[in-house]
Amino acid sequence: MKYKNGQYLLVCGFELCRVEFYGPANKVYCSPECKKRKNSRKTTRVKELTQGVDTKIRVAVRILMNLFKPDEEGKMAISMVELACNAFPFDLPTTPYKDDRFRGVLHSFGAFCFYRKGEDFVFYKTK
Ligand SMILES: [Zn+2]
Repeated sequence: MKYKNGQYLLVCGFELCRVEFYGPANKVYCSPECKKRKNSRKTTRVKELTQGVDTKIRVAVRILMNLFKPDEEGKMAISMVELACNAFPFDLPTTPYKDDRFRGVLHSFGAFCFYRKGEDFVFYKTK
């Protein structure tokens, strides 16, 4: 780090600024404006990410609503191919789910949960 008159040569931490400035070693941004702009971008990013997540769950639930016809045990096996044909978002976020109907951990999203069985996914309704 370059050092001059008790201050270090730093680069602003806001990626759209990146201006070089002299300041104490622990200073991250060249100005309070950059700090503010950086923080507001962070909030936007989080919003964008979580909205994307919600979209995938919504898409998955909509697909399942169309396909799901439960047997007498309340489950339905759907092949990976059929899900893919319906543009099922396989990378959707799920939470682990325990159910008496299945020994093991299911993955849940929206009102459904599932586990993988070979080339099939077996779905249950949770609500
Ligand atoms: Zn800056």
